[in-house]
Amino acid sequence: MANETVRNVIIIGGAPAGYTAAIYLSRATLSPLLLAGEKAGGQLMWTTLVENYPGFANGVQGPDLMQQMRDQAIKFGTEVKNEDVTKVDFSGQVKKVWVGETEYLAKTVIISLGASPRMTGAGEERLFGRGVSTCATCDAAFFKGKTVYVVGGGDSAMEDTLTLSMYTNKLTIIHRKDSFKASKIMQDRVLLTKKVPVLWNTELVEVIGETKLEKIKVEDNRTGETKELPAEGLFVAVGHMPNSDLFKGQLELDQMGYIVTNMTTSKPTNNQEVWLHGAPTQTSVPGVFASGDVVDLRYKQAITAAGFGCMAALDAEKFLTGALE
Ligand code: NDP
Repeated sequence: MANETVRNVIIIGGAPAGYTAAIYLSRATLSPLLLAGEKAGGQLMWTTLVENYPGFANGVQGPDLMQQMRDQAIKFGTEVKNEDVTKVDFSGQVKKVWVGETEYLAKTVIISLGASPRMTGAGEERLFGRGVSTCATCDAAFFKGKTVYVVGGGDSAMEDTLTLSMYTNKLTIIHRKDSFKASKIMQDRVLLTKKVPVLWNTELVEVIGETKLEKIKVEDNRTGETKELPAEGLFVAVGHMPNSDLFKGQLELDQMGYIVTNMTTSKPTNNQEVWLHGAPTQTSVPGVFASGDVVDLRYKQAITAAGFGCMAALDAEKFLTGALE
């Protein structure tokens, strides 16, 4: 079903980046359409108390923060639909976005679809916010002096371990191989400086606990032997997957699937010129901007996603007024 209205801007993804972009663009009277997704709110919908989002001295529940942002966007005139985008076509000057058979048209698009933390397959998502976390920067402070496990062998697992080691010394890493994939410097900090014990060749097979994490079950993948370990915290750090599948063939993605923008650090230095003079959130297609975890391998915080959303909104606004080079 074609929809003839060509909007100023469509924002894809309703989480901190998308909501923030919507607040800025609606206040600028650009009447954005926000396609927030059927499960709007992103990773914060699985989170309980958020203590590091500025402005909330007593913390804020993740879903409440998302509702506040959504209400703020609607208050200034954002049209929000909880719909999943199924297809895009960015080849023409007018950008096309589909939800099933319904086609939306816009002069600019902002993509804020986030990234999904990879799971181990042991069902740990059942106890998210109740002992299980995917973000040590966000949640380590809740685990002072507690018995905590980190799963993974990459740089994220090392970084999470180092963050957690500031709060507890009852810390163990679980890794499925007999060596880490992480960079040597990070491994050395964990193994030599902090001397954190590791369960090598070990896989998480079950999280145990009705309303909160009580134990984990692990398996030695060489012998098949399993054991249950008392656990108050479990940090899953086995990578993230940027939600960028929709844009394959339409936008430049890096080798890990993150959308490349003018601020993507892995871009060759000959793009220095673009970074200095172009819009930081501009993708490989003029008029299409990206913000939040779908471009961000490094920080992955609600506040940085919101900041990227603000930048994308200002970049899109400039593009619409023809002020962007
Ligand atoms: P990675 O993909 O690099 O590592 C994921 C780790 O999780 C690997 O050790 C992998 O095991 C393990 N893993 C994957 N799937 C499973 C599973 N189903 N069950 C158990 N274990 C699993 O992800 P990271 O998030 O660690 O890092 C992503 C990128 O970000 C990297 O390029 C990294 O260098 C970078 N980064 C850099 C940092 C820094 O420099 N300070 C900090 C954080 C990230 P296996 O080893 O067997 O493949």
